Amino acid sequence: MTLEQGTVTTGSSLQRCPLCAGSDIEVHLEATGGALAHDALGSSRTDVGHGKVLRCRGCGFVFSEFRPADEELHTLYREMNPTVYEKEAQGRLKTAQRHLKMVQRHIAGGRLVDVGCASGSFLKVAAEAGWTVTGVEPSETLANYAKKLLDGRGDVHCATLQQAKLQPQSFDALTLFDVLEHVTDPLAFLTECASLLKPGGYLFANVPDISSLQARVLGGRWPLLLAEHLNYFDRTTLKRCGDAAGLRWIAFDRRPASFTVEYVLYRLSQHGIPGSSLGHRMVQENSLGSMCIPVYLGETFAAWVRA
Ligand SMILES: [Zn+2]
Ligand SMILES: [Zn+2]
Repeated sequence: MTLEQGTVTTGSSLQRCPLCAGSDIEVHLEATGGALAHDALGSSRTDVGHGKVLRCRGCGFVFSEFRPADEELHTLYREMNPTVYEKEAQGRLKTAQRHLKMVQRHIAGGRLVDVGCASGSFLKVAAEAGWTVTGVEPSETLANYAKKLLDGRGDVHCATLQQAKLQPQSFDALTLFDVLEHVTDPLAFLTECASLLKPGGYLFANVPDISSLQARVLGGRWPLLLAEHLNYFDRTTLKRCGDAAGLRWIAFDRRPASFTVEYVLYRLSQHGIPGSSLGHRMVQENSLGSMCIPVYLGETFAAWVRA
């Protein structure tokens, strides 16, 4: 990864697997440029490269070689530009409704914390369904959106999980939508999340799945290979991570995410998928572009119970 001015400058190259600490590591995918910077983050990105991706021969975990220092990562997320993200608000609401259905298959209500709550779509639908909700979000802009959206029906902490200092064993459910792939130490992070649950409480996580059909077919063009994705789980390594964090795995599921046609074509064109550039130009001018469609990007949703 080449680092330019204004990008992440402190961090380290991993020599050991962040999941099992094994040192028998191979290259899974070579880097395609794409330094971790403001314009390479989130849905408003202009650069879609990713750094070198490694694989642990011991446990099969796939992860990016470069680990930015926590401080730098927090600064990046705090200042992330959410313009495109907000344009997709309608799609996010649909995705949030799907998330709630998946959660309520296991538990009907209680105290819920959404870690990495972004602009609060999930908190909103959960609050409307009767849950007592808390959100944690390090980006100031997104946390402010979430507060506005909730309109007093829950707490939103503009902080990292560590800074939020939530009460241990105080929640019935904890959700991590598209969060675990972003943290430098996923096992420590999941362990801390588990500690916030009451015994018998539920933890739900959605992550990109490196063994999904989409990831295997698209290889280096898989849209979820991104500079800010540090961890690439599959069902085996996700389950292993949960076991090590003191959780009992109960189910896997798959969720489609909802996006507008224009956004899907825009992102595909950034990854050089044939026909998508032309398609993107064609739908920009008409109503087809703003239609919401469900898309399976190759992700896995997992449910656990705290023992
Ligand atoms: Zn390993
Ligand atoms: Zn992500």
